[in-house]
Amino acid sequence: MQILDGKALSIKIKGELKEKITKNTLSPTLAVVVVGSDPASRVYVNGKKKDCEELGINSWEFNLQENTSEEDLISLIDNLNNNQMVNGILVQLPLPSHMDEDKVIKSISPSKDVDSFHPENIGKIMLGTYSFLPCTPAGVMRIFKEYNIEIEGKNCAVIGRSNIVGKPMSLLLTQEHGTVTVAHSKTQDLTEITKRADILVVAIGKAKYVTADMVKDNAVVIDVGINRLDDGSLAGDVDFDEVAKKASAITPVPGGVGVMTRAILMENVVKAYEEQNKLLEKACL
Ligand code: NAP
Repeated sequence: MQILDGKALSIKIKGELKEKITKNTLSPTLAVVVVGSDPASRVYVNGKKKDCEELGINSWEFNLQENTSEEDLISLIDNLNNNQMVNGILVQLPLPSHMDEDKVIKSISPSKDVDSFHPENIGKIMLGTYSFLPCTPAGVMRIFKEYNIEIEGKNCAVIGRSNIVGKPMSLLLTQEHGTVTVAHSKTQDLTEITKRADILVVAIGKAKYVTADMVKDNAVVIDVGINRLDDGSLAGDVDFDEVAKKASAITPVPGGVGVMTRAILMENVVKAYEEQNKLLEKACL
């Protein structure tokens, strides 16, 4: 059984990005907008800030009060869209309940939408013509590539159909010629689906939900879930200790998909910087 070491791979990706930034004196900038004081959001934002510092990416943080109006938030995003210094814009979700998340995401310029949540970018994933991929599914695909895990012709099951993980994940696996089944909370006989999967991606948000009896022998198991247990530790959606005995390869939590998500975000910021500068150069010719 092989542990798919997202941590080691993320360190490699970040090292390559840092070298590229230093060698070519690139100056990418990520603007992070946080509304309110959700503690989990704080942790995520601090992580992103630390990654930026490590790589030499400028990070601008905008902390808005919980009662900020949607109009003011969109006006800030508009300013960032028009600011040539800013290459990537990330609005930390969830937003307070008085805001319409879809409307806010739509207000981010697609070329700066490094999370790839904008409808235009989601449409491009469908067509296979994307510039950015959403960070989590892209991180999973990178793990497959790094470990030479063949997708073509394989039975793939994606458990969870969220817009940020399950749905784009299923599209990317389909593009790589996997035969994909998507399951969700209304799925009948989940085990019948998971048992057939050569590649199983789980993103449901329920600690240790997928047990060994649900998994095919020698399956590749990707655990996207991040759940905080009562003792403060983290667990995935997969019962790691038991499933690892049956799988041919598995991602741990932590140290699997989560760290890869962070690395791909940094990659998207650099990509946004490069693409915007290419356009600027063209405009000056
Ligand atoms: P989400 O928006 O809550 O979606 C959960 C999905 O799981 C839904 O499609 C839901 O079905 C489905 N589901 C729930 N219970 C189920 C069950 N018993 N059987 C089958 N399907 C079930 O969550 P998300 O944003 O996709 O996140 C999922 C997990 O991944 C969470 O633990 C989250 O913290 C984690 N996550 C990790 C990363 C990372 O970087 N590693 C990034 C994002 C999220 P319905 O559609 O029918 O409700």
